Amino acid sequence: MKELAPFRIDRAISVGLVEPLLRLHRRETPSIPILMYHSISDTLDLAPHPYYRTTTSPVAFQAQMQFLHENGYATCTPGAAVEQLQSGEINRKKVSITFDDGYQDFLENAHPVLERFGFTATVYLPTAFIGDERRSFKGRPCLTWSEVRQLQQLGVSFGSHTVTHPQLRELSTETIREELLDSKKAIEDQTGEPVTSFAYPYAFPETDRSFKAALRDLLAEAGYTSGVCTTVARASAASDPLFLPRLPVNNDDDQALLSAKLSGAYNWIGSIQSVIKTTKRIFE
Ligand SMILES: [Zn+2]
Repeated sequence: MKELAPFRIDRAISVGLVEPLLRLHRRETPSIPILMYHSISDTLDLAPHPYYRTTTSPVAFQAQMQFLHENGYATCTPGAAVEQLQSGEINRKKVSITFDDGYQDFLENAHPVLERFGFTATVYLPTAFIGDERRSFKGRPCLTWSEVRQLQQLGVSFGSHTVTHPQLRELSTETIREELLDSKKAIEDQTGEPVTSFAYPYAFPETDRSFKAALRDLLAEAGYTSGVCTTVARASAASDPLFLPRLPVNNDDDQALLSAKLSGAYNWIGSIQSVIKTTKRIFE
């Protein structure tokens, strides 16, 4: 018997309500969806609710890339997305595809599919877990430096995901500065290319204005010009270039849900995230 999918309120609202409404009232503000992936593997994680899962099977990933291809999307890096959003020159449907945590399965399971469709991607590396010998992070093997260089030759771009993947908000300014600078330098030393993009580890404290302002200064001082985080929305000209929102994608994203996310029908999740975080902060 076919297993019944668990009921998902986020899916029901996005696919059944928000997307049809958006179609009726289309006021297109220029935006670029930035997809957030982690591991592409048949070893799926089992977080209780699909919203929190971070793995995508190779079969589901292939279907998602096929969907982007069939719908006329071309890929760009988050850095290029910032430039295009700010200049207002987006000549066709664009999407950024990002991968956090530097897992080895990107090389095995994601890159061949991306290449087939002529897509590029940005991989954010937590550099303490990338070595000449294989290391692992959260129980999954990571890329080695020689694999990073190999992928770079094939057109993949790399960004920093800090050195040790810490909760940055709990660290001193000096330690945050080291996390930003040392990871950037490690990747630049290994690839010979400038690193200008950053991915914030863990849930982004979007409502903590003073932390955000301080981190923005530190990122700029370290030489970053674009950055991504876990705030849910499509990136637009109004987005902070160093804290661009993304759309989380995982194994549970079928065509309807992916389509809803790409069209902006998942952005309402971002507003709820923000309300919850603000409420939590008030009562902290
Ligand atoms: Zn991460």
